[in-house]
Amino acid sequence: MGSKKYTPCPFCGSESSCWVKGGRYGRFTYVECDLCGARTKTFKYCGDEHAEVDWNDISVKKAWDAWKRRVNTEAETNAGEKH
Ligand SMILES: [Zn+2]
Repeated sequence: MGSKKYTPCPFCGSESSCWVKGGRYGRFTYVECDLCGARTKTFKYCGDEHAEVDWNDISVKKAWDAWKRRVNTEAETNAGEKH
């Protein structure tokens, strides 16, 4: 189970979450909306494998940055999901 933090989704106004999850190749982080499913790519979590999640970690910031950029660039032209 991953840890997460909330922020409002600018697409639909629902809660979007920043996740930090553990996987076979270590921890990774991304931001995903709970309702509309919009999400960023994943970023490798740089923090210590066994330490508590540090929400100031650079990889978390990158995920939030990507989320904001996506919002700024795509919200105006295409709020739909891209594949
Ligand atoms: Zn949303």
